Amino acid sequence: MKNLSYARRTTNESLCLELIMNNQNLSRADLANLTGLTKATISVIVKKLIEDHLVLETGIGTSGNTGGRKPIILKYNGKAGLSISIDVGYNYINALLSYLDGEEIHFIQKKPIVLDEKTIKTYFSEIFASFEKKLPRTTYGVIGVVAAVHGPVFNGEIIFTPHHNVDQIAFREIIEEISDYPVYLENEANLSALGEYTFTSDSSSLISINMHSGIGAGIVINGKLQVGSHGFAGEIGHQIVVMDGKQCPCGNHGCLEMYAANKVCFEKFSKIKSMDYVNAVILREYYQNHDQDAQQIIQENVHYLSVGINNLIAHYDPEVIVLNSSLYREIPEIIQQLKQLLSNRFSNEVIVRNTALNEKATLLGGLVLNLQRFLNINQVKLSD
Ligand SMILES: [Zn+2]
Repeated sequence: MKNLSYARRTTNESLCLELIMNNQNLSRADLANLTGLTKATISVIVKKLIEDHLVLETGIGTSGNTGGRKPIILKYNGKAGLSISIDVGYNYINALLSYLDGEEIHFIQKKPIVLDEKTIKTYFSEIFASFEKKLPRTTYGVIGVVAAVHGPVFNGEIIFTPHHNVDQIAFREIIEEISDYPVYLENEANLSALGEYTFTSDSSSLISINMHSGIGAGIVINGKLQVGSHGFAGEIGHQIVVMDGKQCPCGNHGCLEMYAANKVCFEKFSKIKSMDYVNAVILREYYQNHDQDAQQIIQENVHYLSVGINNLIAHYDPEVIVLNSSLYREIPEIIQQLKQLLSNRFSNEVIVRNTALNEKATLLGGLVLNLQRFLNINQVKLSD
């Protein structure tokens, strides 16, 4: 069992590996400087990491002004293994097989689909069968499977999934039945935040707000997900924005997601226009053709969301807020309106932007979680 031996990686090995992953052009001497460990200790650690195929030597750096021997540059070997991530939404499944540097090997999307425990089993079996056919040979093979859950998760267990057709879907049991890989469950907005943090940002704190049928946020500070004492940190869709407002499945009245979730916009618009189906693309067309109803629904959405984001900034003071919503992707100009509503003194420095990874953010976050577990590291920055 290779995985078990890697759970025992020493703290210093993990520290050096993390530094090599997060910095370009490090030499052994740089590692000694950064960690405070002796050059002899660094030599032993790097030798082990090279033998384990996690680090490569990639040529010669510059010797600097003082002359002397030119150092050998160390590089993380992102092709040493593979990762599988699966995102199960209320009417879709996205799945990604990738290398450990995020390079995509195979992406599968099933949408729109009706999901219950039985159909999920069938779809998962199909997905794993296609992945098995495409597995390249690597040192470690698949290091784990991360399933994104649209509901709070704590210590790897689902607390509830409010927007699925069944209360509790046994993702772990289903995956363990069809594969031998270690399985991890995590909230989808949390994974999205990890993906954005690692692949699109240099910042040390980032919040990703995911808007689909509900609204959730993932909070990452110095590479670590903030999950709270019970797994509810980032459940921003359940902050009350209207006193004694609409009843929410969570038990409160007036929660943000009862007013600002994408699903609310689409349902409102389909009711006004007597349409069977509305999505962000349809709403965008009406909005850009100056349809009054579309304009009003979107203005309302922007307004409610700005209240939610204002609260978030006051609590966490993040460097970056990333929006992951089909509505804001289709109509990016409304981000500017949103920013104008964030006019207090705390909001000036915060960057609010659309996701750069779209639906892949959650899946790449799954890879990051797999890496954190497998390599025993905290922070991963793999953006170029
Ligand atoms: Zn609620």
